[in-house]
Amino acid sequence: MLNHCDTRRMPDTFTINPYRGCEFGCSYCYARYTHEFMGLDGSQFERKIFLKLQGARVLLRSLDPGKIAGRNIAIGTATDPYQPAEARFFLTRQMLEVFAQARNLSLSITTKSSLVKRDIPLFRKIARNNQLQVNISLISLDEKFLADLEPKASRPQARLAALKEITEAGIRAGIFMMPILPGITDSAEDLESVVCAARRNGAHYLSSNILFLRESARKPFYEFLRRKRPDLHRRYCRSYGIRSCMPSDYQRRITTLVRALKEKYGFDRESPPVKTPEPYQPEMWNLWKPEQIGVD
Ligand code: SF4
Repeated sequence: MLNHCDTRRMPDTFTINPYRGCEFGCSYCYARYTHEFMGLDGSQFERKIFLKLQGARVLLRSLDPGKIAGRNIAIGTATDPYQPAEARFFLTRQMLEVFAQARNLSLSITTKSSLVKRDIPLFRKIARNNQLQVNISLISLDEKFLADLEPKASRPQARLAALKEITEAGIRAGIFMMPILPGITDSAEDLESVVCAARRNGAHYLSSNILFLRESARKPFYEFLRRKRPDLHRRYCRSYGIRSCMPSDYQRRITTLVRALKEKYGFDRESPPVKTPEPYQPEMWNLWKPEQIGVD
């Protein structure tokens, strides 16, 4: 259940994905390749969702606190933990109930779903003894455009309302403005509209990243461009070529622009409320019993 990841983007992080596949079906999603591990092709990613029904039980039995205390645990890196299946199966919730029994962990949850509000009481419980942050992904306020790009994700205003409710409940939360799409969502006005909305809805932080066009995302994303922005198809092919990232001069320009907007809206003036994890105490894990988390 816990995968160790040590890349430049996620250094020394453990990742958890309660599902495999994601019904939200974003055109740019790079996680499609994970369906190849199941012998399926990436086009099934949003149609065939696998459930890790024993996930909470496995976590409960196999977590080694000595290895993970104080290190980052990211929930929802290759699938959205609050995609439609979560409303029926509660797998993310069961795993959070396991973490609510622990201390000194550093957890983050990333989602595009307003269903995340459902677990606010549980977040409060977790945050009493752990560091927790809830990342809401949002790249634009254009509802119609996002309905094409991220067909089943919550509408922008619903995500912002969830952000507001979560921060008002005293939980650290912010906006992940990822992926910024070159020539589509990268104008100063569009970026500012998201940064401003983040601030108005109580975001504690805002992070951004430019489209990472991995091989597995290329086909669906280029299909999306051909349907919705045929004028940009050539430009993307030229700019990305066989690489996954835009050229460095573009990256520098966007990074500078976003940094200026964050300063304008006061994001960099706020120091994040980070708790220093206490030293690991083995007895903290002895509280866990399967019946406490409602799994059998
Ligand atoms: S919500 Fe995330 S995991 Fe799901 S399809 Fe979109 S990018 Fe992929």
